[in-house]
Amino acid sequence: MQRDDIEWMSTARDHAIAEKGTDPANTPIAAILVLDGEEIARGVNHTAECCDATAHAEIVTLRAGGAAFGDMRIEGATLYSTLQPCGMCTFASIWAGVSRIVYGAGRDDVHEMYFEDRHLSTLDFIADAYKDDLELVGGVLAEACADLYFRPGDDVPEEMQAND
Ligand SMILES: [Zn+2]
Repeated sequence: MQRDDIEWMSTARDHAIAEKGTDPANTPIAAILVLDGEEIARGVNHTAECCDATAHAEIVTLRAGGAAFGDMRIEGATLYSTLQPCGMCTFASIWAGVSRIVYGAGRDDVHEMYFEDRHLSTLDFIADAYKDDLELVGGVLAEACADLYFRPGDDVPEEMQAND
């Protein structure tokens, strides 16, 4: 963990709440892309609003970040996410060339509805990526972030579970 990680995660969490409130039903997930101590882009989950299964907070942020940065690859950047990235967002981060992924709540802190696979942690793919300088840091403000989401064992209505 770096000195600023808690500060950026706190900013991401504040952004999630500012945009989407604290009700887990509104999926208040936020991401921030930071390069050399400066924010390049931020975003929240817009899957429901945009009828777009790919509009996860990390993807929204990488799209905005690439446009702002002027390159699809943002070497040296850190992607902060309030929730452990799913497989799609993990791979998108690899393709975007980011150098660090820092997340808040991990998959054991939240309901299984947030992930696509039962047993595999798709973050493990990072170890097998050609890009061998991608650092992974999890559990930053984990409890505070997990408070925004459905927890393991929560009785989540079937229609809200997009991975089913
Ligand atoms: Zn995702």
